[in-house]
Parts: sequence; C-alpha cells; structure tokens
Amino acid sequence: MQYPTHLLKLIDVLKKLPGVGTKSAERFAFEMVSWPASKLEEMAHIIHKTPNLLQHCLECGSLSDATSCHFCQSSHSRLPLLCIVAMPRDVFSIESTHEFKGLYHVLGGLLSPMQGIGPEALNLPKLKKRIAALNIGEVVIALDSTLEGDATALYLKQELEPLNLSISRLAFGLPMGSSLDYVDGGTLARALSARGKF
Ligand code: ZN
Repeated sequence: MQYPTHLLKLIDVLKKLPGVGTKSAERFAFEMVSWPASKLEEMAHIIHKTPNLLQHCLECGSLSDATSCHFCQSSHSRLPLLCIVAMPRDVFSIESTHEFKGLYHVLGGLLSPMQGIGPEALNLPKLKKRIAALNIGEVVIALDSTLEGDATALYLKQELEPLNLSISRLAFGLPMGSSLDYVDGGTLARALSARGKF
C-alpha cells in the first residue's frame, strides 16, 4: 500500500511537530483532507502569515504582535522583579498562574555543551542591561529541572551575583495531587532540601 505523493508530504510535514508520530500525523492528514478547500486555505493563510505577524519582543524576547510586547509596554505598572525563562511559551505559562507580577527575560534556550549551545547563543548580553535600566531588585530563575536547566541556572547565578540582587529559583518538589509512593527519589530529595515552613 502506497499513499499518494502529496498525502505523504502532508504526513511528513505534520510529523515535524513535537509529540506527533507517524500514526498521529496520518490521522491529522486524513482529517485535513476531508475539510473543504476554504478551511484548508484559511489554515494555510494563518501559517503563511506567522513569520511576519508574530515577532520576538526586542526587549525581553517573548512573542508579540509588535516589536515591544505587552509586558514590556506596561513595565511601569509591573513590580521590579525579573523572571528568567528559557522559551517564550514559559512566559505565558508563568503569567497564567497570576502569581507573578514582574517582568520577563527569555534566554531562547538552555546551555548545552553536548549540543554546542554556549552562553553566546543565549539572550544574555541584554540581561544585565535590562536589570540596570529597569531597577530590578530580584531575579527569579524559572528554568527546567534538567541537567541543562541546572547548568544554565548556575551560570546565571555566577553572572548575576556581583550585581547585588536577590536571586531565587523556582522551588522543586512534589507535583500537586501526588502520593509519596509514586514520586521518584530525585524529586523527593529536592522536595526535602527545599522544604518550606508550615
Ligand atoms: Zn517584551
């Protein structure tokens, strides 16, 4: 059995999305080819316009409709806290908690010597300038709990320590609703070392 050439192309394109394997890509492709042409064209139009209409904020690196994002435009009404994240989507995850009222800085990745990603590949030169210009008093490092996340957090700590600010990192611990039986040793050890007053 051989799929028509264009259907194969569609499946291959869909497989480029994270978490989409061959089976899911085939399901999506067959669903899409059942749509009316107008619906496919609308989808294609939105994808086509994305590079022009969605941009990285020149200040913080988050995603925006303009060269300056919503957060940077309203910097005067936000607290003098700066949350450092790896990717633009992390900004929106943290913002959706309604727990953070400061500003953001997107690194654009994490340090990874294995993949050849060094400090020069990250949005670091602007970080110190922004901290001074915005009178930032506290930096919150909100990076993954992985080898790369830990290495990047350590690097940031060393770089920012001379600036005399309060530096914190997101707490690590038990996922909500979890039972101790099911939590791995590493998570439990971190939860213990980062325990808080009750
Ligand atoms: Zn911004």
